[in-house]
Amino acid sequence: MNLTNFRFETDADGIALATWDMPGRSMNVISMEVMDELEKIVDAVVADPAIKGCVIASGKDNFSAGADLTMLQSLGGTFERMKRESGEEAAMQALFGGSRRLSLVFRKLETCGKPFAAAVTGLCLGGAFELALACHHRVVSDDEKTRVGLPEIKVGLFPGGGGTQRVARLMQTGDALQMLFKGEQIRPAMAKGMGLVHDVAPKAEIVERAKAWIKGGGSAVAPWDVPKFKAPSGKVYSPAGMMIWPPANAIYRRETHDNYPAAKAILASVYEGLQLPMDLALRVESRYFANILRTTEAAAMIRTLFISMGELNKGARRPKDVPQTAIRKVGVVGAGFMGAGVAYVTANAGMEVVLVDQSAEAAEKGKAYAHTLVTNQINRGRAKTADRDALLARIATSADYADLKDCDLVIEAVFEDPKVKAEVIARVEAVIREDAIFASNTSTLPITGLAKASARPEQFVGIHFFSPVEKMMLVEIIKGGATGDRAIATALDYVRAIRKTPIVVNDSRGFFANRCVTAYLLEGHKMLLEGVPPAMIENVARMAGMPVGPLSLNDEVALDLGLKIARAAEAQLGPEAVDQRQKKLLTDLVEGHGRLGRKNRKGFYDYPEGAPKRLWPGLSEFQPERLDPDSLDVTELKHRFLVVQALEAARTVGEGVVTDPREADVGSILGFGFAPFTGGALSYIDFMGAKRFVEIARGLEARHGARFAVPQNLLDMAERGGRFYDTPAQAA
Ligand code: NAD
Repeated sequence: MNLTNFRFETDADGIALATWDMPGRSMNVISMEVMDELEKIVDAVVADPAIKGCVIASGKDNFSAGADLTMLQSLGGTFERMKRESGEEAAMQALFGGSRRLSLVFRKLETCGKPFAAAVTGLCLGGAFELALACHHRVVSDDEKTRVGLPEIKVGLFPGGGGTQRVARLMQTGDALQMLFKGEQIRPAMAKGMGLVHDVAPKAEIVERAKAWIKGGGSAVAPWDVPKFKAPSGKVYSPAGMMIWPPANAIYRRETHDNYPAAKAILASVYEGLQLPMDLALRVESRYFANILRTTEAAAMIRTLFISMGELNKGARRPKDVPQTAIRKVGVVGAGFMGAGVAYVTANAGMEVVLVDQSAEAAEKGKAYAHTLVTNQINRGRAKTADRDALLARIATSADYADLKDCDLVIEAVFEDPKVKAEVIARVEAVIREDAIFASNTSTLPITGLAKASARPEQFVGIHFFSPVEKMMLVEIIKGGATGDRAIATALDYVRAIRKTPIVVNDSRGFFANRCVTAYLLEGHKMLLEGVPPAMIENVARMAGMPVGPLSLNDEVALDLGLKIARAAEAQLGPEAVDQRQKKLLTDLVEGHGRLGRKNRKGFYDYPEGAPKRLWPGLSEFQPERLDPDSLDVTELKHRFLVVQALEAARTVGEGVVTDPREADVGSILGFGFAPFTGGALSYIDFMGAKRFVEIARGLEARHGARFAVPQNLLDMAERGGRFYDTPAQAA
C-alpha cells in the first residue's frame, strides 16, 4: 500500500499496526490526504483475510492535535467562491460533502467489520480524538503529557467528526454536554473515569495492550450498533430526559447569552441525534457542522484564537536579524503582587531568578507566593513535592542589588512612581552586565520617559504583565522611542520561554490593553451616573460578550488605583484628559465611603464573609435619576460597551501604537476578554464592515458624546471600503 502519512505493517498474529507519522511535521494533523489514507487503511484491513484487526498509533510524541484548521477555514472560502460562481444550492452541497468527509471515513472504520483499537500517547485532541472514539477500543498512555479532549468550541467550532454523537452515547447526557461545552483537555485517569477510554497503561505498553485486546477477540461492533442499545441517560422523551433538557437550555443561555452558534449546534446535535440511529444522527451532526463552518463567529475565532495566536507565539513580530537569545538568569526587582508572580512564572519555565526587594523579608514574602501556588497544585495532584523543591531552588532572594550581576534580563516591578523607578534603574544598571536587558512592568508610565533614567535606553523595554500573572496569558511588550531590536527580541524570547502570548506595541499612555479597558470601565460608570440600574449594567455587559461586568472588573482592579491613575493623568495632561464626573464618582466612593474594591470587601459590590457578593445598595446615591429598565434599549447598551472599546483599539492603530491587527485582536481577547466570538476588537469592526460600524458609532456619538467620535483612520477605511486585515492572506 502506498502511504505517505502512515507506516503500515502486520505482525505474525495477523494484527496490523498503522503508525501515523507525517513527514516533515512535528505534529500529526488531519488533512485531506490523511483522510484518504485512513480510508485506504480501512479498505486494506477489510480486504486481507489474514488481518484480524488494526491498531492506530502515532510515530511522534503526540498522537495528533486534530484537524488542520486552515483546511476547515478554506472550506468556508470555497463555499463563498462557489456561491458566487455556481449558486448557493451547489455551494451548500459541496460544503456539506466536504465537511462530512471525515465523519464518513470514521463511520466506515467503525462499521468495517474488523476491530480497530487506538493506542494514544501525548495530545489527542479534536478530530484525532474523534478518530479514537470511532475505534472500538482505546488504550491511553498514563504519562504526564497525555491529554484527550474535544476543544473545537474554543475556536467557534464543534466536533463534526461524530464526536457529539459518540460522547453522548458513552456518558450521561449532562456530562457529555459539559465536556463538549468546555472543550477541556482531559488527563488519562479522568478520561477512564468518564468512560471515554477503556485502558490506561504505561507508554511503552500501549500498542501491545491494544494488540492484545484484538487478539483476545475484541468486538468490532460499537456499543451503539448493538441492537437494543440504550443511551446512558435513556430516551430524550422520558421523565429523565425532561430533567435534563430544560436546564441544559438554561445553562446554555446563561453561559453563552446566545453569542456562540457552535454551542447551540452542540445542544441541537445531541438533542436530535440521541433520538436517531447512529447513521442518521451523524448526518444531523454534519448538517449543523456545515452551517457552523459558514458562521462569522467560527471564521473570526479560528483566525484570531488559532492562526494569529499561533503566529504571534512563534515570534511573528520578532526582529529577524537578532540571533536567538539564551536567557538563563532573570532578575526581578520588587517582590510585591506582580513581582512575586513574575518570579514564579520565570522559575516555572526553568530559568534562574534573583528576586530583590527593599528587605530580605519582603523578597522572601514574594518567594512564598511561588510556594503557595505550587502547593495548591500539589494538593490538586498536579505537581509533586520534588517539583516544588526544584522550582523554589531556582528563586534566590536578596535585598542586595549586587546579586543581579549575572542576569541576562532584569524586570522591575516596584511602586508605580517615576522617582522610585528612576532610582531603581540607576541602581540596577550600576551592577548588571553591559549587554543585559532592562525591562519595566509599569502599567501607566510611558517607557520613553522612564528610559531617560537609563544609561542604555536601546536596551530598555517594557514587559507589561497582567494580573494575576500566573493566569493571564497575554504580555504586552512596549517599544520605547529608543528601544533597540535586541531588547525587543530578548523580551519576545523571554515571553516565549514562559509560554505566554506576546504583542509588541509602541509607546503610549496605557499602551494598548489598558486604554481599551479604561474605556470599558468608563462606559459602566457613565451608565451608572445616567441612572441605568447597576444590575442591568453588569448583565448587559455579559450579554455583549464580556466575561465580567465593568463594575465587577473595577472592583477587582481596585477603585483607588483608577482614581490614582486619573489624578496622575490630570496632573500631567490637564483637566481635559480625564472625565470629571467619573473622577468625582471614584473620589466619593474611595474617599467619601472608603470603598476600594474587592480588596477591602467594599466596592461597587459588597463582599460579605461566606456569602456571594451583591451590588452595594448605596449606589443609588449616585443615581439622582433612575431609569426604567423597560425603557432602555438593550442593543444600544451592548453596542456602547463593544463600540467604545473597538474605537479605542482603532485609535491605537491610527496613532501607530498597534501596528499589526493580529496583535490588537489577540491582545483584546487574552488581555481583557473582549467578546471572543467577535474575534477581537478590530475583527469586530472588520466583520461587520467599517461602514456599518461608523454608522453605529456616529449614532452613539450624537446621543452620548465625543468619546464615540470616529478616528480619521477608520473614517478613511469606511470611505474606501477597506479593512484592518488588508492583505488577502490576513483576511482569510
Ligand atoms: P506592590 O506594591 O504590590 O509591589 C511593589 C514592590 O516593590 C513592593 O514589594 C516594594 O517593597 C518593592 N519596592 C519598592 N521600591 C523598591 C526598591 N527601591 N527596590 C526594591 N524593591 C522595591 O505593587 P504591584 O501591584 O506589584 O505593582 C508593581 C508594578 O507593576 C507597578 O509598576 C505597577 O504599575 C505594575 N503593574 C501592576 C499591575 C497590577 O494589577 N497590580 C498590573 C500590571 C503592572
